Amino acid sequence: MEDHRTHYPLIIIGGGPAGLMAAISADSSSTLLIEKGPKSGRKLLITAAGQCNLTHRGTIPELLEHYDKGERFLRPALYGFSNSELINFFEDRGVPTFFDEKDRCLPKSLSARDILNQLLLAAREKGTDFHYNDRVLTIEMIGEGENPDTPETARFRVITKLRNYYCDSLILATGGKSYPKTGSTGDGYTLAQSLGHTIIEARPALTAVESNNFALTPLSGLSFDNIMVEIYRQDKMVHRFKDNLLITHRGLSGPVIINNSRSMKKGDELRVDFSGIGRDEVTEKIKKASAEEGKRALGSFLKNLEIPRKIIPYLLSPGGSRPGDEGSINPEKPLSQLTKQERSLLISHISAYPVTISRLQGWDSAMVTAGGVDTKEINPKTMESRVTEGLYFAGEIIDVDGDSGGYNLQAAFSTGWLAGNNIKRNRES
Ligand SMILES: Cc1cc2nc3c(=O)[nH]c(=O)nc-3n(C[C@H](O)[C@H](O)[C@H](O)COP(=O)(O)OP(=O)(O)OC[C@H]3O[C@@H](n4cnc5c(N)ncnc54)[C@H](O)[C@@H]3O)c2cc1C
Repeated sequence: MEDHRTHYPLIIIGGGPAGLMAAISADSSSTLLIEKGPKSGRKLLITAAGQCNLTHRGTIPELLEHYDKGERFLRPALYGFSNSELINFFEDRGVPTFFDEKDRCLPKSLSARDILNQLLLAAREKGTDFHYNDRVLTIEMIGEGENPDTPETARFRVITKLRNYYCDSLILATGGKSYPKTGSTGDGYTLAQSLGHTIIEARPALTAVESNNFALTPLSGLSFDNIMVEIYRQDKMVHRFKDNLLITHRGLSGPVIINNSRSMKKGDELRVDFSGIGRDEVTEKIKKASAEEGKRALGSFLKNLEIPRKIIPYLLSPGGSRPGDEGSINPEKPLSQLTKQERSLLISHISAYPVTISRLQGWDSAMVTAGGVDTKEINPKTMESRVTEGLYFAGEIIDVDGDSGGYNLQAAFSTGWLAGNNIKRNRES
């Protein structure tokens, strides 16, 4: 039967992990959650390929190191509802979890559906009303005595496709802009702006990079452990990162790229150290080997440097070209016979293989959004707006993004929990 109630003490916009956890911690029989899609948690269901990496092992200070700029802002939220509390929440509800070899926490069933079902069940147990297929279009603040028909305590009028609602407190948990198919299309930014908030420009984050005429395409699928990648902008090194690297059809991926893509731009040159030992040591080793074992074939020397065989022919070809193209160095060539030019190409390619970024993959494949509601305008201890009383934020809509490994869901759960819990405390005080 159609529910015609329109005034709620609390309305939450967005049925992702942040909105659901906020509904649970608000712990009230009169919360309304409005979700524009036909169901909640569409993005949650595709996390970690449907297996849901819900958080990460570590102390709170360790976790906090994995958020870009968000370290100070997230501290109260993560202490308020930590990774162990999140794990206990699911364990208590019959969803055991485990840590994999990378210290990522997943449900033992490897099913994101189990996580979502428990969130929905818990929210329903608290008495949350769900309205689906109803998109919030605008929010208006209600002036005092504005309309005699408006509920007295209401601060906001929430206008959806279908009707007008009123609420005393409001949580915006509409997510970011990545994977728009799941419902996060950036609506929340416009809504927040209309309520006086500043939006830090939203950019795709946790994404792979592409390079035009990528020479390493035939090696797609090949991965390397602990590789140093330096980012050069206008010939100046701006960042360097070390982690595992994956070669893809069109460019580079893997944690060293994905987790640091927020620092990369189109046109940047990535220099990849396939040697694992850096330019100076590579130069030194080549010099020494040429002097001491000049007859040794170049290919055999490179294997000794522990560079995977498959990539060696590519490191011997001039930038952007394929093995055997003009200018390639013959791997059979004795070390002592390398020309100065060949030696210099070899050193650069082994220790700083250049890949120019032609494109960062976009919203359709970025896992999270960098940017969003400016954290300066949100009280980190409560998630309440510093601009508009009674307005709260939770989840990816906030200008905080984490590395891959469970950090983004933990942030969504912790900020959602804090916002809901604070509203509960205000209600009870
Ligand atoms: C492929 C993929 C894999 C991922 N894997 C992981 C992982 O393993 N671990 C991890 O930590 N993170 C992962 N993430 C990131 C994580 O899923 C997000 O950070 C998290 O879902 C954010 O939660 P949220 O509740 O803030 O927003 P969302 O999950 O995006 O939910 C926001 C909700 O708001 C609704 N909404 C938006 N606008 C309106 C409106 N106007 N009216 C009503 N409703 C609206 C949307 O329909 C949506 O349901 C992954 C992301 C992707 C895309």
